[in-house]
Amino acid sequence: MGKISLIKEDITKVHADAIVNAANSTLLGGGGVDGAIHRAAGPGLLRECKRIGGCPTSEARITGGYNLPAKFVIHTVGPAWRGRAGDEDREDALLAGCYRNSLALAYENGVRTIAFPSISTGAYRFPVERASKIAVKEIREFLEAHPKMEKVIIVCFGDEVFRAYEEALK
Ligand code: ADP
Repeated sequence: MGKISLIKEDITKVHADAIVNAANSTLLGGGGVDGAIHRAAGPGLLRECKRIGGCPTSEARITGGYNLPAKFVIHTVGPAWRGRAGDEDREDALLAGCYRNSLALAYENGVRTIAFPSISTGAYRFPVERASKIAVKEIREFLEAHPKMEKVIIVCFGDEVFRAYEEALK
């Protein structure tokens, strides 16, 4: 599928209309990709996030990109994987919602190129093989329904994550 690309990169360096942040529900910054995005964007991003006042799991919010090359940051809150039998379906659905809601919000704001990190597979411990299949399915469905979306870049930090998404794209 030509519109999806897979790269190993720091997402804060990616030139796209929007990059997605794997945020937490406070939107006040954190570790991992969230910390990297806030450091690279500068303090204006945190000020705007404070005004938004938080975001429930699976939903998305949009801000400016400040000092980033991207014009917008889409903040979405992934589910934390608890690994409890019976919770998996709910967690899968919440993660799928992150991709769908981020793509829809970006699209409404004129975004045609967007970069995603591997949401929930760091501190939130969602198994990466499982997460990558969900991500690829949602991205493909969105692209089919929205032919004007030009490019979705999946940004992988590390070889294990890269291999999982490579497999999911096959
Ligand atoms: P979550 O809390 O949703 O699990 P994390 O930031 O802990 O979010 O991890 C999500 C993914 O983002 C992990 O694969 C992690 O390795 C990756 N990551 C961390 N920093 C960056 C970065 N600068 N660019 C792209 N991906 C990153």
